[in-house]
Amino acid sequence: MKIRDLFNEKEFVYSFEIFPPRHDYPIETVYSTIEELSKLKPDYISVTYGAAGSIANNRTAEIANLIKDKYGIESLAHLTCIGSDKQKIDNVLADLKEKKIDNILALRGDRPEDGSNIDRFEFINSQDIIRYIKENSDFGIAAACYPEGHIESRDKNVDIEVLKRKEEFGTDYFISQLFLDNNYFYDFLDKAEQKGIKAPIQAGIMPVINKRQIEKITSLCGATLPKKFIKIIDKYEHDKDALRDAGIAYALEQIVDLISSGVRGVHLYTMNNPYIAKRINENMDCILSSVRKESKVASLG
Ligand code: FAD
Repeated sequence: MKIRDLFNEKEFVYSFEIFPPRHDYPIETVYSTIEELSKLKPDYISVTYGAAGSIANNRTAEIANLIKDKYGIESLAHLTCIGSDKQKIDNVLADLKEKKIDNILALRGDRPEDGSNIDRFEFINSQDIIRYIKENSDFGIAAACYPEGHIESRDKNVDIEVLKRKEEFGTDYFISQLFLDNNYFYDFLDKAEQKGIKAPIQAGIMPVINKRQIEKITSLCGATLPKKFIKIIDKYEHDKDALRDAGIAYALEQIVDLISSGVRGVHLYTMNNPYIAKRINENMDCILSSVRKESKVASLG
């Protein structure tokens, strides 16, 4: 099933992201995570893709296949293109097809760490891979977006132009980078609407449960840490369990606000931690079933 059909059927799409185990860990280490997450009945689960050439990559297809085949949940395989040539991308697409995957999150991926020029590559940005997949296959296509601007971006208007092009080249819907202040997301939705972007935009939410994540967030994606959030960190940084609970409560507040504001969906970065997803779900059970009921009434009407 194409995930775009889920957006056509439902007013609100709720999904999880997981990552394959490191290459020196057996693949089975992710099985219990999937088992637990599947009980929470997300609309789909996405599986990340490592840097080009990483051994973990062939696990993306395998795990995405398991999610569909064993648990009957739709899956989305991430795919980055930077550093790959057409032959390699063709091989990955053939593997995904063989494993009955219908949806790809088409990404550029991060630039080489040595800062070398990327112009020599066959694919240099996400539009290249989106266009290539669209022209050469029948996968449903998702792409990434950045409510606070991509970390390399000097002008957020360029990011919106790029978003429009991603849609024109065949993106069905977008998943956002994580953010901790919903106002950035709402401003971004307004800008996308003004630009005429029609594809649904799912909000990426990561419950922050330890200090290491915060360093990662600021250095890798540049998300702004709101004052309210910093206060939580300052107060609970030396109490692991309290910080975890406060991080989950913060994410829940964000999600409830997003649902109340009518966003098309939430993509939860689970960090392969079913406990967090479970806690979020327990607190959202009624809200989620209420949005789902509303969607049914709307489609009947
Ligand atoms: P692009 O869409 O190409 O954009 C990158 C930057 O270049 C933006 O600033 C954009 O505005 C600019 N740009 C693009 N095209 C043009 C143009 N034609 N002219 C001018 N400027 C341009 N990484 C992984 O390695 N594995 C994963 O599994 C993974 N999953 C992710 C999932 C989500 C939801 C998100 C948000 C990110 C994920 N990433 C992943 C990280 C992603 O690979 C990086 O953010 C990467 O740096 C950019 O990828 P992109 O597809 O957004 O790039």
